Amino acid sequence: MELLYNSTRNADEKVTASQAILKGLAREGGLYVPEEIPALDTDLDDLAKMTYQETAYTVMRKFLTDFSEKELKDCINAAYDQKFDTEEIAPLVQANGAYFLELFHGSTIAFKDMALSILPHLLTTAARKNQVRNEIVILTATSGDTGKAALAGFADVEGTKIIVFYPKHGVSPIQEKQMITQKGENTFVVGIHGNFDQAQSGVKKMFSDEELVKVMERSGYQFSSANSINIGRLVPQIVYYVYAYAKLYANGEIAKGEKINVAVPTGNFGNILAAFYAKQMGLPIAKLICASNENKVLYDFFSTGIYDKNRDFILTSSPSMDILISSNLERLIYRIAGNDAEKNTDLMKALTVNGRYEITSRMKEQLEEFYGNYTTEEETARIIRELYEDTGYMIDPHTAVAAGVYERYKEETKDEDVKTLIASTASPFKFTRSVMNAVDREKYDSMTDFELVDELSRLARVEVPRAIEEIKTAEIMHNTVCEPEEMERVVKDILKIK
Ligand SMILES: *Cc1c(COP(=O)(O)O)cnc(C)c1O
Repeated sequence: MELLYNSTRNADEKVTASQAILKGLAREGGLYVPEEIPALDTDLDDLAKMTYQETAYTVMRKFLTDFSEKELKDCINAAYDQKFDTEEIAPLVQANGAYFLELFHGSTIAFKDMALSILPHLLTTAARKNQVRNEIVILTATSGDTGKAALAGFADVEGTKIIVFYPKHGVSPIQEKQMITQKGENTFVVGIHGNFDQAQSGVKKMFSDEELVKVMERSGYQFSSANSINIGRLVPQIVYYVYAYAKLYANGEIAKGEKINVAVPTGNFGNILAAFYAKQMGLPIAKLICASNENKVLYDFFSTGIYDKNRDFILTSSPSMDILISSNLERLIYRIAGNDAEKNTDLMKALTVNGRYEITSRMKEQLEEFYGNYTTEEETARIIRELYEDTGYMIDPHTAVAAGVYERYKEETKDEDVKTLIASTASPFKFTRSVMNAVDREKYDSMTDFELVDELSRLARVEVPRAIEEIKTAEIMHNTVCEPEEMERVVKDILKIK
């Protein structure tokens, strides 16, 4: 049976999976959502024996029903290969009573690789299936990790160009170096004098600018998105929750059907929404623990039912979560509004106009399976240091936010027995300075970034990842910087259109 996708802002818009992937964003700024969440009907004993690739096929075929078996398997095999430095793709590490699901073994050492290594293949397959002749222009805003993962995924992919906007002063030095050294004739990287939300709003504006879309069409281009608003990114993220659950079962850590908690360091709400979808599919998940840093909009939302972005934007040591508008929350809002596109549109309009909205108490009741909280910068550093001192295991600041919120969850709820999976979203090598400063500020303050990398490798007894070795000597390829208002002009210049 074919699964279709609706727009969260227009009840009449229905498209196939491949069309939803191609378009990225629906008209009127809506997001595509599956009409219903398919059930995971494979027996756990069978899942337990599967490789990551086999699990990916089992899960994704349920969502991407207009892809043939061969098309989907080709995409999966092209994505999850030697680009990952471990055959397991997403290994589990037990430390301090929790299970860290390491999602950073891909080519850019952050969890974005889990989806962005497959998205270019899904997208080019979708273009072929829909007889698209235009060149596809991937327009992406990044808080640091999406940009590099998307660039790496799309570099030299025929029929595509990729343009990435990032906050010039809002990413880590290693993140910036990774992006501006990207090779590939079809890649473009632009810093903006602004924050991530401004980059994201600028991109969304171009997507919904009918005039611009027409101009593009005339020049043989069409936009698509590599941001987590693209359903082609969300679906591959469901896979690793199913895979991790099956591995916990295979390793004898949990019984069949035993419920687990999942803690996710959250920014744009994509990763945790994938966990929610996994739960909807039937994966035994108890609580979805949504962890924020000091930009705690989501914590406030879960506690009050009011989403309010009117506040200062704080730059933290977990920059990929420095976000005040969590785009994917819209998919959850639409759902708890009873799949009511009109109601959802009203709320999203209120967000654009007033910077806030409030959900009804009936909607709020449906959020019980979520637990939200946040950690301060000091707590995040303490978590990194203590975990390292107690176990020798080193985690990055994003993962530490989740580990910190999980601690708080246990204190508040006394729910200590339910096994808990913590999504580990970046390698500590990507945020070396913050991690080493957390361990010992005085000792490491005077070292250069690359000296710190070697020191981290020694302390954690982990080899320096290839991704870091590469940028040590890489040449800078991109140096465009602009104001947020100039983003459209920059895109036109790059595409040589008026
Ligand atoms: C993107 C990112 C996050 C946030 O994930 P969302 O899906 O946007 O909520 C957390 N940690 C790291 C390292 C990331 O790159």
